[in-house]
Amino acid sequence: MDNLRFKRILLKLSGEALAGPRGFGIDPDTVSAFCKEIVDAAAKGVELAMVIGGGNIFRGMSASASGMERASADYMGMLATVMNAVAVQDALEKLGLSTRVLSAITMQEVCEPYIRRRAVRHLEKGRVVICAAGTGNPYFTTDTAAALRAMELKSEVIIKGTKVDGVYNKDPKKHSDAVLFERLTYMDVLEKQLKVMDSTAVTLAMDNKMPIVVFNMFEPGNLNKVVTGQRAGTIVE
Ligand code: UDP
Repeated sequence: MDNLRFKRILLKLSGEALAGPRGFGIDPDTVSAFCKEIVDAAAKGVELAMVIGGGNIFRGMSASASGMERASADYMGMLATVMNAVAVQDALEKLGLSTRVLSAITMQEVCEPYIRRRAVRHLEKGRVVICAAGTGNPYFTTDTAAALRAMELKSEVIIKGTKVDGVYNKDPKKHSDAVLFERLTYMDVLEKQLKVMDSTAVTLAMDNKMPIVVFNMFEPGNLNKVVTGQRAGTIVE
């Protein structure tokens, strides 16, 4: 417990992170692989809150581009995040962790409502808090929800798990000469429009001096490196 750099973290995972090789829906093997990393971090005494996206199931912006009313499409996107949250809860509980899903849209048969003080209490008791339904408002994203919850829950950092090793100057999947940044400022991210989190989320983090670490969630041991202060991925501060 002594060598923890971050005692309370907010882990943001995109819906894509749950989809695995299929690229859509929920792949149980992929989910259980990253859940093992979470179990290791929790065993070290890290208090974990999570925000999960919904892009593997439904993205409001894409549906509205094809003619759907944006707010309705966004509510569908938020419902998708609840499905993902319940899937991650199930996987974490199979691995022995105690968890709670807290939704920004009340759905009492499925999960608890998001109440900040209750979320903090769960964290203090060592439960993994999975925040579902984003901010509860259309026209936002789960990146912004992650920044908001990180601040509300007094997390020390936002950790964004991706499929690549951090933030690059160009897409590393398309360009073999892409360079990984070790450290960036919030303004670097905003000015260069780097793909870290959307600009609303980055601005919120900047205004509240909340560091963001972007790292590869699928590299075993990586989450452990981040929470113990070893170099992994890119830090934005
Ligand atoms: N969404 C929303 N308000 C929020 C968070 C999410 O309306 O506060 C909707 C929005 O339509 C978004 C969808 O939920 O496209 C899924 O979230 P997101 O795209 O952030 O998921 P990710 O890209 O992380 O998988």
